[in-house]
Amino acid sequence: QPSSLSGLPAGVGEALEAEGVAELYPPQAAAVEAGVVDGESLVAAVPTASGKTLIAELAMLSSIERGGKALYIVPLRALASEKKTEFERWEDHGVTVGVSTGNYESDGEWLATRDVIVATSEKVDSLIRNGAPWIDDLTCVVSDEVHLVDDPNRGPTLEVTLAKLRKVNPGLQTVALSATVGNANVIAEWLDAELVESDWRPIDLRTGVHFGNAIDFADGSKREVPVERGEDQTARLVADALDTEEDGQGGSSLVFVNSRRNAESSARKLTDVTDSRLTDDERDSLRELAEEIRGVSDTDTSEDLADAVAQGSAFHHAGLASEHRSLVEDAFRDRLIKCISATPTLAAGVNTPARRVIVRDWRRYDGDFGGMKPLDVLEIHQMCGRAGRPGLDPYGEAVLLANDADTKEELFERYLWADPEPVRSKLAAEPALRTHVLATVASGFASTRDGLLSFLDNTLYATQTDDEGRLAAVTDTVLDYLGVNGFVERDRDGGSESLTATGIGHTVSRLYLDPMSAAEMIDGVRSVSGDGGALDETGDAGEFVRTADENGDEPGFGTYTRAGEDGEEGETEAAADGASEGDASSPEVTPLGLYHLVSRTPDMYELYLKSGDREEYTELCYEREAEFLGDVPSEYEDVRFEDWLASLKTARLLEDWANEVDEDRITERYGVGPGDIRGKVDTAEWLLRAAETLARDVEGVDGDVVVAVREARKRIEYGVREELLDLAGVRNVGRKRARRLYEAGVETRADLREADKAVVLGALRGRERTAERILEHAGREDPSMDDVRPDKSASAAAT
Ligand code: ADP
Repeated sequence: QPSSLSGLPAGVGEALEAEGVAELYPPQAAAVEAGVVDGESLVAAVPTASGKTLIAELAMLSSIERGGKALYIVPLRALASEKKTEFERWEDHGVTVGVSTGNYESDGEWLATRDVIVATSEKVDSLIRNGAPWIDDLTCVVSDEVHLVDDPNRGPTLEVTLAKLRKVNPGLQTVALSATVGNANVIAEWLDAELVESDWRPIDLRTGVHFGNAIDFADGSKREVPVERGEDQTARLVADALDTEEDGQGGSSLVFVNSRRNAESSARKLTDVTDSRLTDDERDSLRELAEEIRGVSDTDTSEDLADAVAQGSAFHHAGLASEHRSLVEDAFRDRLIKCISATPTLAAGVNTPARRVIVRDWRRYDGDFGGMKPLDVLEIHQMCGRAGRPGLDPYGEAVLLANDADTKEELFERYLWADPEPVRSKLAAEPALRTHVLATVASGFASTRDGLLSFLDNTLYATQTDDEGRLAAVTDTVLDYLGVNGFVERDRDGGSESLTATGIGHTVSRLYLDPMSAAEMIDGVRSVSGDGGALDETGDAGEFVRTADENGDEPGFGTYTRAGEDGEEGETEAAADGASEGDASSPEVTPLGLYHLVSRTPDMYELYLKSGDREEYTELCYEREAEFLGDVPSEYEDVRFEDWLASLKTARLLEDWANEVDEDRITERYGVGPGDIRGKVDTAEWLLRAAETLARDVEGVDGDVVVAVREARKRIEYGVREELLDLAGVRNVGRKRARRLYEAGVETRADLREADKAVVLGALRGRERTAERILEHAGREDPSMDDVRPDKSASAAAT
């Protein structure tokens, strides 16, 4: 019983019981047995929804009760605020909670006063690099979804971050929460932790495959679900769940599909099933919810979502605005939305259980693989694990779909009877090590090559590998790269080679840049500065060390010829155009050039180049060649040229945004969701800010280049043309309102302080509250709209 647990803050046990935790679930009891409330480190590898969060809470609360401080590491930013809200219920018991989302400066000191801090692994890594003092005070760290150390992109950060935290605080209690994976024992060995491993679930899960007229379950049972001729298999299964009443209500479904587009079209299709099964009350509430969804943003996605939701069906994917996501999740938990069609991101953490999970797609397009690739067993198991709502459903059902008997067999073999894969460290990949070696040296975790290697010995990679030479070899390649680019100084005199981060190396580490991004940006801003000599020195060197690992190209392609120089028709013309437009010795720096520069760094996840795009962007590439910073690869360098064009596509999206192109138009033009635009814009803003710092700190960059970078960044930040920068900087104005004000003759912040209020109100479509707030933020003495004659504002609003 929770109230009989000792070592927790007063009242916590009772509060848990009041929440409905009458007794601990078996894996929780095993965790307590293993000492989780006594400061013992623990790896809990148990299925989704079997109460891992409570294990973490017991560890953190008992640690705090002993006078300590806890850190909870989440895998996704979207989960940080969810977890924070969840933990805030302990504030009644004197436990304070904070979430680290903003930049380091804004929340560094405040976080030091919190008992529990929630952050992503990237955030924690950044806080360590920036020397957040409270890191030393931690007594307990929780790593949620630790099996993601397997992820090639983000896993290494988690791995190195945990290694650093444990090095700074030797007695640190480490609690790692994992899905059931093939080798949880290795994770436990790495973290010197007790292992609690279990298949127990609070509610029975039946998994099966639907084929023909029935679901065959793995336990040998069968459920008849006949599909009529011409009827859709998914729709039939969703309908079947809704028509089967358990506690007086039909069951909801979660449908997993393999792309955003499929999630949207599936949701639309399933409205036929859900709509006819709604009560009048539900229909009313859903209509209100749809309005709320439309209110979040006026995009097509918003409109499509609202239309589907009004009929009881929704879609959910990473391209949605976060407000949209939480509205959908809440309404699904409240049983108002009957069915969600989702991409697998939903399976990764958000707590949205359903009676029935339908895994419609078990393959997904994979560019590296060059076709449709089967999902991992772990991923499928996590989706299935979302089935069954404790306290609401008698059992959960997870159903995979087959069109023929062979596929049915394959699905059983491949997924339902299979164990999940073991997790494997991805740290020895060069891009990951490049970043982490620099950070490790810059933040003083290692000052010699030997020290660096012994630090890396505390990682999962070292626990897993037998080949010790490999890590050392990659580390040396990375050190060469960092040395050549002037980020690390190496001194080979004496015993062990000593390593020190240079000034610029420190800056790069603190800015949280991939060193290769920094090198690219430094080369770029130098290439347009007066002193051409600097380019030759570092420009080529920087490129040269990119190796085959990165993009399949041979090393040494720093010395390619510029397109247009090899005398092909058309290209020559483009080159001539470029030359006639600007002075060749100091080319003009345009926003597109800068957007392209940041888009081609490894820190920007560039847009995917569709087959039809190649021609369009090749043309654009030659048309605007003069604007690019650095040399354009030749068309014969297939892979590099393709990459260059993909960056150009990304850069043009950013340019469209800065040219006030409508959000809807952008989503259409690039085949992305509004959430993706936000993502690209945020990343570009961050990278341009970093580029500005670098441009100021390194030698050989002209002052007007620094200014150009700043302007390009501001235009991205507000999504406006130059003339609106001043207005758009006023809080609550935004890109659309700024344009309308400007067109009404109110062109600057100063104008706002003087302007005729009726004009302002008219430009703001008669919204008095908004107008007042904007005038107030612009520094107007009398922002009130009370003195505006109603007839005047009404007529202004009507235009
Ligand atoms: P996981 O993190 O393992 O996916 P959660 O921690 O989100 O699972 O738990 C799933 C649900 O079970 C939550 O709603 C939680 O409140 C509830 N729960 C956890 N432990 C218990 C318990 N011992 N008794 C009753 N409900 C519990």
